[in-house]
Amino acid sequence: MTRSFQIAVFEGDGIGPEIMVPTVEILRALAAQSDAYTFDFRRLPAGAAHYANTGESLPQLALEYAGQADAILLSAMGLPDVRYPDGTEISPQIELRKKFNLFAGVRPVRIPPGGLTPLKLPDNKGVDFVLIRESTEGLFHSQAAGTVTEDDATETLRITRKTSEDVFNFAFQLAKDRKSQGRGPGRVTCVDKANVFRAFAFFRSIFDGIAKSHPDLAADHAYVDATALWMVQKPWDFDVLVTENMFGDILSDLGAGLMGGLGLAPSADIGHHQAVFQPCHGSAPDIAGEGKANPFAMILSAAMMLDWLGTKHDVPAMRADANALQAAVDQQVATRQTVTPDLGGTATTAEAGAAIQTMVAPVEAVA
Ligand code: ATP
Repeated sequence: MTRSFQIAVFEGDGIGPEIMVPTVEILRALAAQSDAYTFDFRRLPAGAAHYANTGESLPQLALEYAGQADAILLSAMGLPDVRYPDGTEISPQIELRKKFNLFAGVRPVRIPPGGLTPLKLPDNKGVDFVLIRESTEGLFHSQAAGTVTEDDATETLRITRKTSEDVFNFAFQLAKDRKSQGRGPGRVTCVDKANVFRAFAFFRSIFDGIAKSHPDLAADHAYVDATALWMVQKPWDFDVLVTENMFGDILSDLGAGLMGGLGLAPSADIGHHQAVFQPCHGSAPDIAGEGKANPFAMILSAAMMLDWLGTKHDVPAMRADANALQAAVDQQVATRQTVTPDLGGTATTAEAGAAIQTMVAPVEAVA
């Protein structure tokens, strides 16, 4: 049986459209050579440039289509010079997280053999862990609604039992899946600051309650400052980390740095019904239009989408293609073959994407 999936595509701003083009081409080529699945892509308007032209950053129709699509692919949105009247940047991706309750921000940190990393890893140590960032509350709760007077500024950190339980259950399920694939020992670490803040002691107590319902998995805690240190000193020790929104925001950029930069860092924001897949980086306006943006973080995000859809709808071929896509990117990075300037190469965005497509879906297979 061939499954058909509707994919909402937000090309966004800056380098967004440049990295989305090869990504969608690769997905089309993979689907074309498979009997198991097909895609129906629909490009939707949103972002800073759209706001500058129309006064709308995320049109209602685009939101509605995205809500009923099987998954959302999003490149990057926002431009430093285009702002709302209150001075904040245009970030429809944050609106999507709130609107669709995408509480689990999944940020894999992988350093495959030969991968680019500023760390000197011991020979026998590979790095493969996942940071889960709660993405709808925490210190982002009062985003754009904090109070500021001449002498005083206040923002609110909010932790709720419901969302915390959802994100902890997600983290334990992920640890279980990884364990069954031989990718981790089956351990979830709650990253917090429970020694200083009551809200984090609450967060931790909810975590401990959820951990009890997963007796087959290990659970422990770490303070966020120590976690930052250990991510540099012994990153191979982690399996699944779960943390609050702002801590996760900061640690995921540290994770991207460990992997060799933003151009290689994929992400997913997942809720009960909907999920957005997008690279960790922004719209990189400084290199937009030059054809040298690295498409790999976007392509790896698409691989995460294949894996998520394949798991959710039980289509093993999609999970296999996700693995193949990831392996192809790993190989190109390890050999520095056909990579963009940020990885030390001279390839254009289109060439780097085409090389991956040739590896996973050779032309004769899709002809
Ligand atoms: P945001 O706040 O929206 O996350 P940002 O201002 O932190 O964005 P980015 O847009 O991610 O920053 O860019 C940071 C730097 O990384 C820039 O110099 C940019 O050119 C570079 N960069 C980001 N993404 C890529 C990419 N895919 N390929 C090459 N360089 C990139």
